[in-house]
Amino acid sequence: MTQPLLNARPESHLFYQTRARRPVLAEARDLHIWDVEGKRYLDGSSGAMVSNIGHSHPHVLAAMRAQMDKSTFGYRLHFETDPSERLAAKTAALMPEGMEKVFFVSGGSEAVESALKIARQYALATGQGSRWKVISRQPSYHGCTLGALAITGYGPLADPFAPMMRVMPKIPAPRAYLDGLDADDPATGAHYAAMLEAEIIAQGADSVLAFIVEPIGGASTGALVPPAGYMQAVREICTRHGVLLIHDEVMCGGGRTGAFLGGDHWGVAPDIIALSKGFGAGYAPLGAMIAHDRIVNPVLDQGGFAHGFTYAGNPLACAAGLAVLEVIEAEGLTANAARIGALLKSRLEGLMDRFPFIGDVRGKGLLLAFELVADRQTMDPLPAELNAYVELVELAYAEGLIIYARRTRDGRAGDHFLVCPPMTATETHVDEIIDKLTAALSAFA
Ligand code: PLP
Repeated sequence: MTQPLLNARPESHLFYQTRARRPVLAEARDLHIWDVEGKRYLDGSSGAMVSNIGHSHPHVLAAMRAQMDKSTFGYRLHFETDPSERLAAKTAALMPEGMEKVFFVSGGSEAVESALKIARQYALATGQGSRWKVISRQPSYHGCTLGALAITGYGPLADPFAPMMRVMPKIPAPRAYLDGLDADDPATGAHYAAMLEAEIIAQGADSVLAFIVEPIGGASTGALVPPAGYMQAVREICTRHGVLLIHDEVMCGGGRTGAFLGGDHWGVAPDIIALSKGFGAGYAPLGAMIAHDRIVNPVLDQGGFAHGFTYAGNPLACAAGLAVLEVIEAEGLTANAARIGALLKSRLEGLMDRFPFIGDVRGKGLLLAFELVADRQTMDPLPAELNAYVELVELAYAEGLIIYARRTRDGRAGDHFLVCPPMTATETHVDEIIDKLTAALSAFA
């Protein structure tokens, strides 16, 4: 029997970050979502940068229905399944050379945990048991489970749990725009990469297991694009010190930035990759950890990976993931993300003339953000009491536009807002986003 739609969140559904009521979702198609009152929203952030191919894509729904008629679960230690085999092969083909082992998980935090654990098992299998520290960046976001949180550089989420985990060393993220440096100058990339080398040496290189980096920043930095030469220099430093390089592609992977992987923009191959969000694209909880054969083989030779999640690789999620990759390929969505992303970025930059409190617009493809500041010259943040990151989101909501906000709260960066519609966006959607955003910014000013 079909249940009637609720028009308010039931008290029993435990949610936690806000007491504000959210509309109840009735239906979603491509870039638009309708609530049960009939109001239409443009999903300008693809949820949390997840719904990369838009909502309710018929090809994915058909693939999932067909799989449901066959089986929805097969335990990974008991059976291989056709969708998981195919998805693994198709994913591996999109990875840098030699990264052929795909380990399925159900989300980004699980992908990151799996990356940390394969790295440690590799070190143990190759006589490098002294290596366990994982250097990451401040700010950064790598997930909410305790292992991923220990490498996350975002105090409000990590600090309360510090006594429960072994907090790992951090180096500054290369926020050239805040430090008054030229991001196009290779000297800037070298400057920030040198901080990694200094930290490796300070920690003692033979204690450092890995360095993890979001090739293009997500919510933590607001789509931070690294300065020229940074990604290549970081790769070289890791190799020289025997430190594994992990690319957290959870948000920037999957085509959204105009290349399938964020790291592809710099032709840099890491040792391990974490993938999720756009990989399942909101159709199924899905992620993957992909490691180079030279990492995986010693672990397999020593008895295998001592790690795994019950739902990993289930055929329904994998059938969805496979269909998502087929859509991205068939519809040329990665190229569309590059093209429409360039248009959207220039339109966002255009808003800077009208709204002096927009301090920066950045990102690549359709992973874009703008930052609100009190003063564009000094890049001082807006006063915290303004609660800009809440207020502007609410104003946009009222206009029927969803954007994703974060306040860095490290006293430097301001409030930033991710504008990341699905990769199926067209010029008309860009107009709609800019019109609604202009109305919200005008109400905020
Ligand atoms: N890593 C990055 C870069 C992310 O952006 C996120 C989520 O926002 C995660 C990891 C964690 O993913 P999940 O929320 O699916 O566990």
